Amino acid sequence: MITISDLSKVYGQGEKAIVALDKVSLEVPKGEIFGVLGQSGAGKSTLIRCVNLLERPSSGSIFVNGQEMTTLGGSALRQARQHIGMIFQHFNLLSSRTIADNIAFPLEVMGYSRTACQQRVKELLALVGLEQRANAYPAQLSGGQKQRVGIARALAGQPEVLLSDEATSALDPQTTHSILELLQDLNRRMGLTILLITHEMGVVKQICHQVAILEAGKLVEQGRVGDLAARP
Ligand code: ADP
Ligand code: ADP
Repeated sequence: MITISDLSKVYGQGEKAIVALDKVSLEVPKGEIFGVLGQSGAGKSTLIRCVNLLERPSSGSIFVNGQEMTTLGGSALRQARQHIGMIFQHFNLLSSRTIADNIAFPLEVMGYSRTACQQRVKELLALVGLEQRANAYPAQLSGGQKQRVGIARALAGQPEVLLSDEATSALDPQTTHSILELLQDLNRRMGLTILLITHEMGVVKQICHQVAILEAGKLVEQGRVGDLAARP
């Protein structure tokens, strides 16, 4: 579903250049939850942001669902991004819009009619268990509820792939657990492919099928989560 080959990203030039990613290759099979684990500064954000081209790679290729992303621009890129949802550490909700209107936002951009939009928002609210909070504003919600809104918004256009950028890092352990359960449930029920980045081994152990370990821009280890855990 996602194939990353020899992906490199260099920020800046000359003596000040920072190699954030150095020839990273990995493959995320359809229907799997794939974790990239690493410390702060390892290049995780850069990696995940390259997948939907929020960041332009310096070299290498990225295929998502058969589509080479790095060649895309303009409307072709916007189109391709509709198949890739993304959730964020700090949720990135619009504070002046209600929960329902936050979730409706991508649908409006995609040109859904008013009625189709309302219907889809209702389904999405039910999917994440927030039917009762449709008219609340983000500031009235807990962190876990805000991330549920983020997930609903990310899934609005029925993407095949979900990118998760430290989605539970701002949450307490119990809330983290329930958000990860929701992601696992979406993976099992809808076959959603998830690429997530995290600095927490606990996240990987709870939901990932495979994990890759990133250190200073290089992938140093990769495998099934059960196999890694079984090692001495
Ligand atoms: P992580 O998500 O693992 O914390 P990042 O991808 O954010 O790592 O950062 C990897 C490296 O690239 C770090 O050294 C960081 O300072 C640098 N970096 C990230 N974004 C930029 C940027 N926009 N400009 C310059 N350097 C950056
Ligand atoms: P996170 O690791 O949670 O993504 P950061 O504080 O590392 O948060 O980065 C926040 C933003 O700042 C990102 O968009 C990243 O690309 C950018 N950034 C990170 N490091 C640098 C840097 N050295 N120079 C410029 N921008 C940076």
